[in-house]
Amino acid sequence: MKIANNNGHTLNGTGRGAIGFIDESICTRQIGKYFIEGMKSLNHTVYDCTIDKSSNYLYEAVKEANKYNVDYAISHHLNCFANEKANGVEVLIYDLNDKETYKVAERICKEISKLGFKNRGVKQGNHLYWLRKNKSKAILVEYLFCSNKNDVSLYNPQKLANACIYGLTNSYPITTEKLPIINSPEYKTYINGNYDTKGKVVRTNNTGLNIRAERNANSKILGKLEEGSIIQLDYCIDNWFSIWNNGKVGYINGKYIDLVK
Ligand SMILES: [Zn+2]
Repeated sequence: MKIANNNGHTLNGTGRGAIGFIDESICTRQIGKYFIEGMKSLNHTVYDCTIDKSSNYLYEAVKEANKYNVDYAISHHLNCFANEKANGVEVLIYDLNDKETYKVAERICKEISKLGFKNRGVKQGNHLYWLRKNKSKAILVEYLFCSNKNDVSLYNPQKLANACIYGLTNSYPITTEKLPIINSPEYKTYINGNYDTKGKVVRTNNTGLNIRAERNANSKILGKLEEGSIIQLDYCIDNWFSIWNNGKVGYINGKYIDLVK
């Protein structure tokens, strides 16, 4: 099978993806990486048509995909909605009467939903550039809602990619299970707002997590939190949380904590 792969959106600037509890542009690149690896392990050909920076990324991505004669052009996305309750997986295709593509899309949806997501089904997306302009059969996968806490807690790029691969090919790639990359500090992002929950200090290389006087890494160090300590979180702005430290406000970088459920 020949596939054109697109990790949805750009990484920076125009065309950047949604940011909910996790960041769509980063997640689609994580999923895409496993998708490409997995497809290649099953001896399929994948052309990566991901555009990281552009003022017109959809045009460029489709132009790239149309260079190749592929069976499917697939674009990875996360959904986002103002109402945080919206959740689940859906797969969009150009024409619901295209039986062959519908069947594949239905299978992708079903496999992803088996990971715990609500199955929202196959939907018509003839307004979407990726589906309208690709010469080959095109599919757009909205794996989950980055604006829904439960969906995000189930996020595992490798499992999602493998489910998509199964939907496409009817077989699972032979890959070893890796930890979800989302837990690595450089990808950790939280939406701004009030967090009435606790956090656990993680990954500080045993040197402790600095409590800062302001929401930036250059401000004065007020104290340290040991790895593994549990703290009550307050308000998050730009990934910095305010916390109470010995009766005074301090700030910690959200990269180095996990939320305690
Ligand atoms: Zn998207």
